[in-house]
Amino acid sequence: RNRPIGENMYRTSEDIGNEDIYSGLTGMVTDDWMEIFEAIYRAAITALLISTIEPRIGIWVFCYFVPWSIMVQKYNTWYKQLKFDDKTLSQERYAVMRDIVAGLKNIKAFGRKRWAEHRYFGILNFTQRWHYKWLWAQWLGAQGPMKILDIILNRGVFIWCAIMVMNGEITIGEITVITFLVFEFLKPFKGVMEMIQRFRMKLIPAERMIQVMDEIPEIQDKPNAPSLPPLKGDVEFRNVRFGYIPERVILNNLNLKVRAGETIALVGPSGAGKSTILNLFLRLADPDAGQVLIDGYNLKDIRLKSFIEQTGVVLQDTFLFSGTIRENVMYGDLYTDEANLLAAIEEADLSDFVAEQPDGLDTWLGEGTNISGGQKQRLGIARALIRHPKVLLFDEPTAHLDVQSEHHVMKTIQKVTRTHSSFIISHRLSPIQFADRIAVIANGGLETIGTHKELLANSKIYADLWREQEEGH
Ligand code: ATP
Repeated sequence: RNRPIGENMYRTSEDIGNEDIYSGLTGMVTDDWMEIFEAIYRAAITALLISTIEPRIGIWVFCYFVPWSIMVQKYNTWYKQLKFDDKTLSQERYAVMRDIVAGLKNIKAFGRKRWAEHRYFGILNFTQRWHYKWLWAQWLGAQGPMKILDIILNRGVFIWCAIMVMNGEITIGEITVITFLVFEFLKPFKGVMEMIQRFRMKLIPAERMIQVMDEIPEIQDKPNAPSLPPLKGDVEFRNVRFGYIPERVILNNLNLKVRAGETIALVGPSGAGKSTILNLFLRLADPDAGQVLIDGYNLKDIRLKSFIEQTGVVLQDTFLFSGTIRENVMYGDLYTDEANLLAAIEEADLSDFVAEQPDGLDTWLGEGTNISGGQKQRLGIARALIRHPKVLLFDEPTAHLDVQSEHHVMKTIQKVTRTHSSFIISHRLSPIQFADRIAVIANGGLETIGTHKELLANSKIYADLWREQEEGH
Protein backbone atom coordinates (compact mmCIF):
# COMPACT_ATOMS: atom_id res chain seq x y z
CA ARG A 1 0.00 0.00 0.00
CA ASN A 2 2.80 2.36 0.86
CA ARG A 3 5.00 1.27 -2.01
CA PRO A 4 5.59 4.02 -4.58
CA ILE A 5 3.69 3.55 -7.83
CA GLY A 6 6.93 3.19 -9.79
CA GLU A 7 8.04 0.34 -7.55
CA ASN A 8 4.87 -1.63 -8.07
CA MET A 9 5.18 -0.93 -11.79
CA TYR A 10 8.67 -2.42 -11.75
CA ARG A 11 7.55 -5.49 -9.83
CA THR A 12 4.66 -6.19 -12.12
CA SER A 13 6.33 -5.31 -15.43
CA GLU A 14 10.07 -5.97 -15.19
CA ASP A 15 9.84 -8.88 -12.79
CA ILE A 16 7.04 -10.55 -14.65
CA GLY A 17 8.78 -9.95 -17.95
CA ASN A 18 11.96 -11.51 -16.56
CA GLU A 19 12.48 -14.71 -18.49
CA ASP A 20 14.04 -16.31 -15.41
CA ILE A 21 10.54 -16.72 -14.01
CA TYR A 22 9.65 -18.94 -16.93
CA SER A 23 12.97 -20.65 -17.68
CA GLY A 24 13.57 -21.11 -13.93
CA LEU A 25 10.22 -22.62 -13.17
CA THR A 26 9.85 -24.69 -16.31
CA GLY A 27 13.46 -25.93 -16.01
CA MET A 28 12.71 -27.04 -12.48
CA VAL A 29 9.73 -29.16 -13.43
CA THR A 30 11.18 -30.58 -16.66
CA ASP A 31 14.91 -31.38 -16.45
CA ASP A 32 16.44 -30.23 -13.20
CA TRP A 33 14.70 -32.56 -10.80
CA MET A 34 15.92 -35.54 -12.83
CA GLU A 35 19.49 -34.26 -12.59
CA ILE A 36 19.18 -33.77 -8.84
CA PHE A 37 17.85 -37.27 -8.40
CA GLU A 38 20.70 -38.75 -10.43
CA ALA A 39 23.33 -36.67 -8.59
CA ILE A 40 22.07 -37.77 -5.17
CA TYR A 41 22.01 -41.39 -6.30
CA ARG A 42 25.59 -41.24 -7.64
CA ALA A 43 26.86 -39.45 -4.52
CA ALA A 44 25.27 -42.04 -2.25
CA ILE A 45 26.67 -45.01 -4.20
CA THR A 46 30.21 -43.61 -4.35
CA ALA A 47 30.12 -42.65 -0.64
CA LEU A 48 29.11 -46.24 0.16
CA LEU A 49 31.91 -47.67 -2.00
CA ILE A 50 34.55 -45.39 -0.43
CA SER A 51 33.39 -46.42 3.04
CA THR A 52 33.57 -50.11 2.12
CA ILE A 53 37.21 -49.81 0.98
CA GLU A 54 38.38 -47.54 3.79
CA PRO A 55 35.78 -46.25 6.32
CA ARG A 56 38.15 -43.57 7.69
CA ILE A 57 38.36 -41.94 4.26
CA GLY A 58 34.57 -42.10 4.09
CA ILE A 59 34.38 -40.18 7.37
CA TRP A 60 36.98 -37.69 6.12
CA VAL A 61 35.01 -37.01 2.95
CA PHE A 62 31.88 -36.55 5.05
CA CYS A 63 33.71 -34.12 7.40
CA TYR A 64 34.89 -32.20 4.34
CA PHE A 65 31.40 -31.70 3.04
CA VAL A 66 29.73 -30.55 6.23
CA PRO A 67 31.72 -27.27 6.64
CA TRP A 68 31.89 -26.84 2.88
CA SER A 69 28.11 -27.11 2.50
CA ILE A 70 27.48 -24.71 5.41
CA MET A 71 29.81 -22.14 3.86
CA VAL A 72 28.24 -22.49 0.44
CA GLN A 73 24.82 -22.14 1.99
CA LYS A 74 25.78 -18.98 3.86
CA TYR A 75 27.50 -17.52 0.83
CA ASN A 76 24.47 -18.21 -1.34
CA THR A 77 22.12 -16.55 1.13
CA TRP A 78 24.28 -13.43 1.06
CA TYR A 79 24.53 -13.60 -2.74
CA LYS A 80 20.76 -13.88 -3.01
CA GLN A 81 20.35 -10.84 -0.76
CA LEU A 82 22.66 -8.94 -3.09
CA LYS A 83 20.51 -9.93 -6.04
CA PHE A 84 17.45 -8.76 -4.11
CA ASP A 85 19.19 -5.44 -3.37
CA ASP A 86 19.90 -5.13 -7.08
CA LYS A 87 16.18 -5.44 -7.80
CA THR A 88 15.30 -2.96 -5.06
CA LEU A 89 17.76 -0.43 -6.47
CA SER A 90 16.44 -0.90 -9.99
CA GLN A 91 12.88 -0.33 -8.85
CA GLU A 92 13.92 2.77 -6.89
CA ARG A 93 15.55 4.08 -10.05
CA TYR A 94 12.32 3.26 -11.86
CA ALA A 95 10.24 5.10 -9.24
CA VAL A 96 12.44 8.22 -9.42
CA MET A 97 12.38 8.11 -13.21
CA ARG A 98 8.59 7.82 -13.18
CA ASP A 99 8.28 10.84 -10.90
CA ILE A 100 10.63 12.85 -13.09
CA VAL A 101 8.79 11.99 -16.31
CA ALA A 102 5.33 12.52 -14.76
CA GLY A 103 6.38 15.80 -13.18
CA LEU A 104 8.39 17.13 -16.11
CA LYS A 105 6.25 20.20 -16.53
CA ASN A 106 6.60 21.03 -12.84
CA ILE A 107 10.33 20.44 -12.91
CA LYS A 108 10.75 22.85 -15.80
CA ALA A 109 8.32 25.39 -14.37
CA PHE A 110 10.15 25.44 -11.05
CA GLY A 111 13.58 25.36 -12.66
CA ARG A 112 14.36 22.16 -10.77
CA LYS A 113 16.36 20.42 -13.50
CA ARG A 114 19.40 20.18 -11.23
CA TRP A 115 17.26 18.80 -8.40
CA ALA A 116 15.92 16.08 -10.67
CA GLU A 117 19.44 15.23 -11.86
CA HIS A 118 20.63 15.04 -8.26
CA ARG A 119 17.84 12.67 -7.31
CA TYR A 120 18.50 10.40 -10.23
CA PHE A 121 22.29 10.44 -10.01
CA GLY A 122 22.02 9.94 -6.24
CA ILE A 123 20.33 6.63 -6.92
CA LEU A 124 22.88 5.76 -9.58
CA ASN A 125 25.63 6.44 -7.07
CA PHE A 126 24.03 4.01 -4.69
CA THR A 127 23.91 1.44 -7.47
CA GLN A 128 27.65 1.87 -7.91
CA ARG A 129 28.21 0.97 -4.25
CA TRP A 130 26.14 -2.11 -4.75
CA HIS A 131 28.29 -2.93 -7.77
CA TYR A 132 31.48 -3.00 -5.66
CA LYS A 133 29.81 -5.41 -3.24
CA TRP A 134 28.81 -7.53 -6.19
CA LEU A 135 32.41 -7.70 -7.48
CA TRP A 136 33.59 -8.67 -3.99
CA ALA A 137 30.97 -11.42 -3.89
CA GLN A 138 32.10 -12.72 -7.27
CA TRP A 139 35.71 -12.88 -6.09
CA LEU A 140 34.75 -14.64 -2.87
CA GLY A 141 32.72 -17.14 -4.83
CA ALA A 142 35.49 -17.91 -7.29
CA GLN A 143 38.72 -17.52 -5.30
CA GLY A 144 37.80 -16.88 -1.69
CA PRO A 145 37.80 -18.95 1.52
CA MET A 146 35.57 -21.62 0.01
CA LYS A 147 38.19 -22.33 -2.60
CA ILE A 148 40.91 -22.46 0.10
CA LEU A 149 38.81 -24.84 2.22
CA ASP A 150 38.21 -26.88 -0.89
CA ILE A 151 41.94 -27.13 -1.65
CA ILE A 152 42.97 -27.93 1.94
CA LEU A 153 40.38 -30.62 2.56
CA ASN A 154 40.30 -32.05 -0.93
CA ARG A 155 44.05 -32.33 -1.27
CA GLY A 156 44.22 -33.46 2.38
CA VAL A 157 42.47 -36.70 1.41
CA PHE A 158 45.19 -37.55 -1.10
CA ILE A 159 48.04 -36.68 1.29
CA TRP A 160 46.43 -38.83 3.95
CA CYS A 161 45.99 -41.64 1.48
CA ALA A 162 49.69 -41.38 0.57
CA ILE A 163 50.65 -41.64 4.26
CA MET A 164 48.47 -44.73 4.67
CA VAL A 165 50.12 -46.33 1.61
CA MET A 166 53.57 -45.62 3.08
CA ASN A 167 52.47 -47.19 6.37
CA GLY A 168 51.21 -50.18 4.45
CA GLU A 169 47.59 -49.66 5.57
CA ILE A 170 46.16 -49.59 2.04
CA THR A 171 47.50 -50.63 -1.34
CA ILE A 172 48.28 -48.47 -4.39
CA GLY A 173 45.40 -50.21 -6.17
CA GLU A 174 42.99 -49.17 -3.41
CA ILE A 175 44.20 -45.56 -3.50
CA THR A 176 43.63 -45.46 -7.26
CA VAL A 177 40.07 -46.63 -6.81
CA ILE A 178 39.50 -44.22 -3.88
CA THR A 179 40.85 -41.27 -5.92
CA PHE A 180 38.51 -42.15 -8.70
CA LEU A 181 35.58 -42.56 -6.30
CA VAL A 182 36.27 -39.27 -4.48
CA PHE A 183 36.26 -37.52 -7.84
CA GLU A 184 33.02 -39.29 -8.77
CA PHE A 185 31.51 -38.23 -5.44
CA LEU A 186 32.60 -34.58 -5.68
CA LYS A 187 31.21 -33.91 -9.10
CA PRO A 188 27.52 -34.65 -8.48
CA PHE A 189 27.56 -33.21 -4.98
CA LYS A 190 28.88 -29.84 -6.15
CA GLY A 191 26.50 -30.04 -9.07
CA VAL A 192 23.55 -30.31 -6.69
CA MET A 193 24.74 -27.33 -4.65
CA GLU A 194 25.09 -25.24 -7.79
CA MET A 195 21.68 -26.27 -8.98
CA ILE A 196 20.07 -25.27 -5.68
CA GLN A 197 21.84 -21.92 -5.97
CA ARG A 198 20.52 -21.48 -9.50
CA PHE A 199 16.99 -22.25 -8.36
CA ARG A 200 17.13 -19.69 -5.61
CA MET A 201 18.34 -16.99 -7.99
CA LYS A 202 15.75 -17.79 -10.59
CA LEU A 203 12.97 -17.65 -8.07
CA ILE A 204 13.78 -14.06 -6.98
CA PRO A 205 11.50 -12.35 -9.56
CA ALA A 206 8.72 -14.84 -8.80
CA GLU A 207 9.03 -14.21 -5.03
CA ARG A 208 8.79 -10.47 -5.59
CA MET A 209 5.75 -10.85 -7.82
CA ILE A 210 4.09 -13.04 -5.20
CA GLN A 211 4.77 -10.37 -2.56
CA VAL A 212 2.70 -7.91 -4.64
CA MET A 213 -0.02 -10.44 -5.33
CA ASP A 214 -0.22 -11.39 -1.64
CA GLU A 215 -0.94 -7.81 -0.61
CA ILE A 216 -4.39 -7.95 0.95
CA PRO A 217 -6.56 -4.91 0.16
CA GLU A 218 -7.77 -3.12 3.27
CA ILE A 219 -11.33 -2.94 1.99
CA GLN A 220 -12.79 -6.25 0.99
CA ASP A 221 -16.25 -7.62 0.44
CA LYS A 222 -17.55 -9.91 3.15
CA PRO A 223 -17.73 -13.52 1.96
CA ASN A 224 -20.96 -14.04 0.03
CA ALA A 225 -21.89 -10.35 0.28
CA PRO A 226 -25.08 -9.84 -1.75
CA SER A 227 -25.25 -7.57 -4.80
CA LEU A 228 -27.39 -4.47 -4.57
CA PRO A 229 -30.64 -4.29 -6.53
CA PRO A 230 -31.16 -1.17 -8.69
CA LEU A 231 -30.98 1.73 -6.25
CA LYS A 232 -33.36 4.57 -5.50
CA GLY A 233 -30.62 6.74 -4.01
CA ASP A 234 -31.42 7.32 -0.30
CA VAL A 235 -28.15 7.96 1.52
CA GLU A 236 -27.51 8.07 5.24
CA PHE A 237 -24.39 8.61 7.33
CA ARG A 238 -25.34 7.34 10.79
CA ASN A 239 -23.17 8.19 13.83
CA VAL A 240 -20.05 7.97 11.66
CA ARG A 241 -16.66 8.31 13.34
CA PHE A 242 -13.49 8.15 11.26
CA GLY A 243 -9.78 9.04 11.32
CA TYR A 244 -7.11 8.14 8.78
CA ILE A 245 -4.86 7.44 11.75
CA PRO A 246 -6.26 6.42 15.14
CA GLU A 247 -4.75 9.40 16.98
CA ARG A 248 -6.51 11.96 14.79
CA VAL A 249 -10.27 11.80 14.47
CA ILE A 250 -11.51 13.67 11.37
CA LEU A 251 -15.23 12.93 11.62
CA ASN A 252 -16.46 12.59 15.15
CA ASN A 253 -20.15 11.92 14.94
CA LEU A 254 -21.51 12.59 11.49
CA ASN A 255 -25.25 12.25 10.93
CA LEU A 256 -26.56 13.14 7.50
CA LYS A 257 -29.67 11.92 5.70
CA VAL A 258 -30.20 12.51 2.00
CA ARG A 259 -33.41 11.64 0.20
CA ALA A 260 -33.36 10.00 -3.23
CA GLY A 261 -33.02 12.61 -5.97
CA GLU A 262 -31.83 15.34 -3.60
CA THR A 263 -28.74 17.46 -4.34
CA ILE A 264 -26.60 18.24 -1.32
CA ALA A 265 -23.70 20.67 -1.38
CA LEU A 266 -20.96 20.00 1.16
CA VAL A 267 -19.21 23.17 2.28
CA GLY A 268 -17.07 24.14 5.21
CA PRO A 269 -13.57 25.16 6.24
CA SER A 270 -10.57 23.57 4.56
CA GLY A 271 -9.62 20.25 6.16
CA ALA A 272 -13.04 19.80 7.78
CA GLY A 273 -13.51 16.39 6.14
CA LYS A 274 -15.70 17.03 3.09
CA SER A 275 -13.64 14.83 0.75
CA THR A 276 -13.39 12.29 3.55
CA ILE A 277 -17.18 11.95 3.49
CA LEU A 278 -17.03 11.09 -0.21
CA ASN A 279 -14.17 8.67 0.43
CA LEU A 280 -16.31 6.87 3.00
CA PHE A 281 -19.21 6.83 0.61
CA LEU A 282 -17.06 5.29 -2.14
CA ARG A 283 -15.74 2.85 0.44
CA LEU A 284 -12.16 3.91 -0.11
CA ALA A 285 -12.11 3.62 3.68
CA ASP A 286 -14.49 2.22 6.29
CA PRO A 287 -15.81 4.19 9.28
CA ASP A 288 -14.26 3.37 12.66
CA ALA A 289 -17.76 3.46 14.10
CA GLY A 290 -21.23 4.04 12.71
CA GLN A 291 -22.61 3.17 9.31
CA VAL A 292 -22.90 4.46 5.78
CA LEU A 293 -26.20 3.33 4.31
CA ILE A 294 -27.58 3.35 0.78
CA ASP A 295 -31.30 2.61 0.48
CA GLY A 296 -30.95 1.20 3.99
CA TYR A 297 -28.11 -1.23 3.06
CA ASN A 298 -24.90 -0.93 5.06
CA LEU A 299 -22.09 -0.46 2.52
CA LYS A 300 -19.95 -2.89 4.50
CA ASP A 301 -22.42 -5.72 3.96
CA ILE A 302 -22.96 -5.55 0.22
CA ARG A 303 -20.87 -6.32 -2.84
CA LEU A 304 -18.91 -3.14 -3.46
CA LYS A 305 -18.84 -3.53 -7.24
CA SER A 306 -22.64 -3.67 -7.43
CA PHE A 307 -22.71 -0.34 -5.60
CA ILE A 308 -19.84 1.39 -7.42
CA GLU A 309 -21.46 0.55 -10.77
CA GLN A 310 -24.44 2.68 -9.70
CA THR A 311 -22.37 5.74 -8.77
CA GLY A 312 -20.71 8.35 -10.93
CA VAL A 313 -17.79 10.45 -9.76
CA VAL A 314 -16.34 13.67 -11.13
CA LEU A 315 -13.12 14.81 -9.51
CA GLN A 316 -11.24 18.10 -9.45
CA ASP A 317 -9.15 17.17 -12.44
CA THR A 318 -10.53 14.61 -14.86
CA PHE A 319 -7.79 12.20 -15.82
CA LEU A 320 -7.47 11.64 -19.54
CA PHE A 321 -6.08 8.33 -20.66
CA SER A 322 -4.11 8.11 -23.90
CA GLY A 323 -6.87 7.17 -26.29
CA THR A 324 -9.77 8.62 -28.25
CA ILE A 325 -12.65 10.73 -26.91
CA ARG A 326 -14.85 7.67 -27.35
CA GLU A 327 -12.53 5.48 -25.26
CA ASN A 328 -12.19 8.12 -22.59
CA VAL A 329 -15.95 8.49 -22.16
CA MET A 330 -16.60 4.75 -22.45
CA TYR A 331 -14.24 4.22 -19.55
CA GLY A 332 -17.40 4.82 -17.50
CA ASP A 333 -19.14 1.85 -19.13
CA LEU A 334 -16.92 -0.30 -21.29
CA TYR A 335 -19.73 -2.23 -22.96
CA THR A 336 -22.17 0.55 -23.73
CA ASP A 337 -23.68 1.15 -27.17
CA GLU A 338 -23.29 4.13 -29.52
CA ALA A 339 -26.71 5.61 -28.68
CA ASN A 340 -25.94 5.62 -24.96
CA LEU A 341 -22.52 7.15 -25.62
CA LEU A 342 -24.01 9.95 -27.71
CA ALA A 343 -26.71 10.56 -25.09
CA ALA A 344 -24.11 10.95 -22.33
CA ILE A 345 -22.08 13.33 -24.49
CA GLU A 346 -25.19 15.34 -25.25
CA GLU A 347 -26.22 15.47 -21.60
CA ALA A 348 -22.77 16.67 -20.59
CA ASP A 349 -22.97 19.46 -23.20
CA LEU A 350 -19.96 18.06 -24.99
CA SER A 351 -21.54 17.59 -28.44
CA ASP A 352 -20.26 20.90 -29.85
CA PHE A 353 -16.73 20.10 -28.77
CA VAL A 354 -16.91 16.65 -30.40
CA ALA A 355 -18.37 18.13 -33.60
CA GLU A 356 -15.46 20.58 -33.87
CA GLN A 357 -12.86 17.80 -33.67
CA PRO A 358 -11.35 16.56 -36.95
CA ASP A 359 -12.10 12.91 -36.20
CA GLY A 360 -15.15 13.48 -34.02
CA LEU A 361 -15.44 10.82 -31.33
CA ASP A 362 -12.34 9.11 -32.66
CA THR A 363 -10.11 12.12 -32.06
CA TRP A 364 -7.06 11.13 -30.10
CA LEU A 365 -6.67 12.63 -26.64
CA GLY A 366 -3.23 12.51 -25.18
CA GLU A 367 -0.09 14.51 -24.63
CA GLY A 368 -0.51 17.98 -26.11
CA THR A 369 -4.24 17.65 -26.90
CA ASN A 370 -5.95 20.95 -27.23
CA ILE A 371 -8.69 20.49 -24.66
CA SER A 372 -9.70 23.15 -22.18
CA GLY A 373 -10.23 22.63 -18.46
CA GLY A 374 -14.00 23.04 -18.88
CA GLN A 375 -14.15 20.51 -21.74
CA LYS A 376 -12.12 18.08 -19.69
CA GLN A 377 -14.61 18.34 -16.83
CA ARG A 378 -17.52 17.88 -19.21
CA LEU A 379 -15.83 14.77 -20.48
CA GLY A 380 -15.61 13.66 -16.84
CA ILE A 381 -19.34 14.32 -16.44
CA ALA A 382 -20.14 12.31 -19.60
CA ARG A 383 -17.94 9.49 -18.27
CA ALA A 384 -19.92 9.49 -15.03
CA LEU A 385 -23.33 9.72 -16.72
CA ILE A 386 -22.75 6.97 -19.26
CA ARG A 387 -23.17 4.35 -16.55
CA HIS A 388 -26.62 5.67 -15.54
CA PRO A 389 -25.65 6.23 -11.92
CA LYS A 390 -28.16 6.60 -9.12
CA VAL A 391 -25.81 8.75 -7.08
CA LEU A 392 -23.50 11.42 -8.49
CA LEU A 393 -20.49 12.73 -6.59
CA PHE A 394 -18.64 15.90 -7.51
CA ASP A 395 -15.47 16.78 -5.61
CA GLU A 396 -14.58 20.40 -6.36
CA PRO A 397 -15.40 19.88 -10.06
CA THR A 398 -14.66 23.47 -10.99
CA ALA A 399 -11.69 24.12 -8.72
CA HIS A 400 -9.28 24.52 -11.64
CA LEU A 401 -11.58 26.63 -13.82
CA ASP A 402 -11.91 30.35 -14.36
CA VAL A 403 -15.16 32.00 -13.31
CA GLN A 404 -16.73 31.85 -16.75
CA SER A 405 -15.95 28.17 -17.35
CA GLU A 406 -17.03 27.45 -13.79
CA HIS A 407 -20.36 29.07 -14.54
CA HIS A 408 -20.88 26.97 -17.66
CA VAL A 409 -19.82 23.68 -16.12
CA MET A 410 -21.97 24.36 -13.06
CA LYS A 411 -24.96 24.89 -15.36
CA THR A 412 -24.38 21.43 -16.78
CA ILE A 413 -24.01 20.01 -13.28
CA GLN A 414 -27.21 21.72 -12.18
CA LYS A 415 -29.02 20.13 -15.11
CA VAL A 416 -27.70 16.58 -14.56
CA THR A 417 -28.19 16.60 -10.79
CA ARG A 418 -31.93 17.21 -11.15
CA THR A 419 -32.46 13.53 -11.84
CA HIS A 420 -29.94 12.04 -9.41
CA SER A 421 -29.08 11.96 -5.74
CA SER A 422 -25.95 14.11 -5.74
CA PHE A 423 -23.20 15.42 -3.52
CA ILE A 424 -21.18 18.42 -4.58
CA ILE A 425 -18.17 19.60 -2.65
CA SER A 426 -17.23 23.16 -3.35
CA HIS A 427 -15.13 25.70 -1.56
CA ARG A 428 -16.94 28.48 -3.40
CA LEU A 429 -20.48 29.08 -2.19
CA SER A 430 -22.17 31.09 -4.94
CA PRO A 431 -21.95 28.41 -7.70
CA ILE A 432 -23.69 25.75 -5.59
CA GLN A 433 -26.77 27.76 -4.67
CA PHE A 434 -28.90 25.52 -6.89
CA ALA A 435 -28.45 22.61 -4.44
CA ASP A 436 -31.60 21.49 -2.58
CA ARG A 437 -29.76 21.77 0.71
CA ILE A 438 -26.32 22.91 1.78
CA ALA A 439 -24.53 20.97 4.52
CA VAL A 440 -21.91 22.80 6.55
CA ILE A 441 -19.22 20.34 7.65
CA ALA A 442 -17.15 21.54 10.58
CA ASN A 443 -15.75 20.35 13.91
CA GLY A 444 -15.91 16.68 12.99
CA GLY A 445 -19.51 16.52 11.85
CA LEU A 446 -22.52 18.21 10.36
CA GLU A 447 -22.75 21.70 11.83
CA THR A 448 -25.98 22.74 10.12
CA ILE A 449 -27.94 21.85 7.03
CA GLY A 450 -30.46 23.97 5.18
CA THR A 451 -31.00 26.43 2.38
CA HIS A 452 -28.77 29.42 1.82
CA LYS A 453 -31.16 31.73 3.66
CA GLU A 454 -31.52 29.41 6.63
CA LEU A 455 -27.78 28.98 6.89
CA LEU A 456 -27.08 32.70 6.76
CA ALA A 457 -29.36 33.02 9.77
CA ASN A 458 -28.32 29.86 11.68
CA SER A 459 -24.69 29.07 10.87
CA LYS A 460 -21.95 31.46 11.88
CA ILE A 461 -19.40 29.42 9.92
CA TYR A 462 -21.48 29.64 6.74
CA ALA A 463 -22.28 33.32 7.23
CA ASP A 464 -18.56 34.08 7.74
CA LEU A 465 -17.55 32.07 4.66
CA TRP A 466 -20.22 33.82 2.59
CA ARG A 467 -19.16 37.27 3.77
CA GLU A 468 -15.48 36.55 3.10
CA GLN A 469 -16.25 35.38 -0.44
CA GLU A 470 -18.61 38.26 -1.19
CA GLU A 471 -16.05 40.77 0.03
CA GLY A 472 -13.44 39.08 -2.13
CA HIS A 473 -15.40 40.06 -5.23
P1 ATP B 1 -10.38 20.82 1.50
O1 ATP B 1 -11.53 21.73 1.39
O2 ATP B 1 -9.12 21.54 1.85
O3 ATP B 1 -10.24 19.88 0.35
P2 ATP B 1 -11.70 18.79 3.08
O4 ATP B 1 -12.77 19.34 3.97
O5 ATP B 1 -12.13 18.11 1.84
O6 ATP B 1 -10.62 19.89 2.80
P3 ATP B 1 -10.39 16.33 3.68
O7 ATP B 1 -9.63 16.25 2.40
O8 ATP B 1 -11.53 15.42 3.87
O9 ATP B 1 -10.85 17.81 3.99
O10 ATP B 1 -9.35 16.11 4.86
C1 ATP B 1 -9.72 16.14 6.21
C2 ATP B 1 -8.48 15.96 7.05
O11 ATP B 1 -7.97 14.64 6.84
C3 ATP B 1 -7.36 16.93 6.70
O12 ATP B 1 -6.84 17.42 7.90
C4 ATP B 1 -6.34 16.09 6.00
O13 ATP B 1 -5.05 16.49 6.34
C5 ATP B 1 -6.61 14.70 6.52
N1 ATP B 1 -6.37 13.69 5.47
C6 ATP B 1 -6.93 13.66 4.25
N2 ATP B 1 -6.51 12.58 3.56
C7 ATP B 1 -5.66 11.91 4.37
C8 ATP B 1 -4.91 10.70 4.26
N3 ATP B 1 -4.93 9.96 3.15
N4 ATP B 1 -4.14 10.33 5.31
C9 ATP B 1 -4.11 11.07 6.44
N5 ATP B 1 -4.81 12.20 6.63
C10 ATP B 1 -5.57 12.64 5.61
